[in-house]
Order: sequence, then structure tokens, then C-alpha cells
Amino acid sequence: MNNREVEIETNLAQVISRIEKAAKAAGRSVEEITLVAVTKTFPVSDIEFLYQLGIRNFGENRNQEGSIKAPQLPDDCIWHFQGQIQSNKLKSIALWADVIHSLDDASHAKKLSSLVANKDIFIQLSLDSQPNRGGVAPEELDGFARAIAELGNLKVRGLMAVAPLDEDPNLGFARLKLLSNQLVKTLPMASEMSAGMSNDFESAIAQGATLIRIGSQILGVR
Ligand SMILES: *Cc1c(COP(=O)(O)O)cnc(C)c1O
Repeated sequence: MNNREVEIETNLAQVISRIEKAAKAAGRSVEEITLVAVTKTFPVSDIEFLYQLGIRNFGENRNQEGSIKAPQLPDDCIWHFQGQIQSNKLKSIALWADVIHSLDDASHAKKLSSLVANKDIFIQLSLDSQPNRGGVAPEELDGFARAIAELGNLKVRGLMAVAPLDEDPNLGFARLKLLSNQLVKTLPMASEMSAGMSNDFESAIAQGATLIRIGSQILGVR
């Protein structure tokens, strides 16, 4: 192994042990929690090494980058798109991304549903009132979820969120959990929570995250 591989292997082992600890503290099974390695800005060689270490879920934020990297990895990888969606990129995103985490706009949802036979999506929820950070406002969630369900071709897996700025992530993720519990009453299959990044994944696991998206803690600073 070269130095880079030693670094990645060490970091990954630490993250996995922290996930196990957080799950145990929350009385949860680690099997409920999927680790998505966020590989944006990092080279394909890093992704190939993570694949060798057993990672299969990878996250990217930009269509241009994901569309180039995804085809270079084996077919059993699951690719997650969690960046800001641009309408004119949706067709391309849908070609390589198996799961889209950042859906927060009704016109994007409608367009996506017309482009795919089926696609797994998460509805991005805003945990603060900063519109430029993306996400549907909590009061709009129920209507948005119903509209997406009616489109037919999008499978809503649950809610995605990033921790609020200037607030304890525990409080933000606790609100996410409450809204997730409400959403399940409308869409029983939409029970997953995509939440938690390098700096707050333990809080997210404590609040019930089923998918955590970790970049820098595994691959280093971007
Ligand atoms: C970049 C990014 C991540 C990973 O962030 P790290 O802090 O590097 O772990 C997760 N989710 C989203 C939406 C991101 O943009």
C-alpha cells in the first residue's frame, strides 16, 4: 500500500468504529446505517481503493464529475447525487446516479419523473430558513411529498437534510426525525433519513439517520 492508501484505510476504520459506537449508544444496529463515501473532488484512484475496502456507496455533488467517474467503477456501486440540481442537468444526472438526495423543487420532480421509469429519491428538507442552502420548508413538506408520490416514477425513500448553521445539530436532526415520522403517515415507504456529515454524523445516528454522507473524515480536506 502507498501512503495515500494507508491514510484512507486508517481514516475509514476510524469512521466505521465511530459509527459502531454511535449506533450502540443509540441502541441501534449498524446494519440499519449505510455509509455513503462522498468522493467529490477526489480522484477515481481513491474511489477504487475504497471499493477494494468494501465500500459500495459513493456520493458526488456535480453532474460533470459524477458522470465521468461513475462509469469507471464496477457496476455494483451505488451512486448518490446530493448536489444542487440544475434542471438542464437532470437527464444526465439520472443516467449515472442511482439515488438523488437533493430534490426540493416541484418542477425538477416533474421533469425527473418524465425522464425515468423509476428512480430512488430523497426529499431535501430545510432545517434553517436559509433558502440558498436548499431544501423544502417544513410547512411545505406534506404537499410536496404528495405531489411527488402522484408523479408515479419517483420512489421517495425519505428525507435528506444538512445540519442547520448556528444551531446544535442534535436539535436540527431531532426536528428532521419528527418530520420524518409525520411523512411516514402520508408515505409509509418513505421512512429513511439521509443525514450526517463528517462533523455531525454521531448526532444524526442518534436521531435515526439510515444513510450518512461522509467525505473529509475519510478522504481528507478538499
Ligand atoms: C460535501 C457534502 C457531504 C460530505 O461532507 P464532509 O463534511 O466532507 O463529510 C455530505 N453531504 C453533502 C450534501 C455535501 O455537499
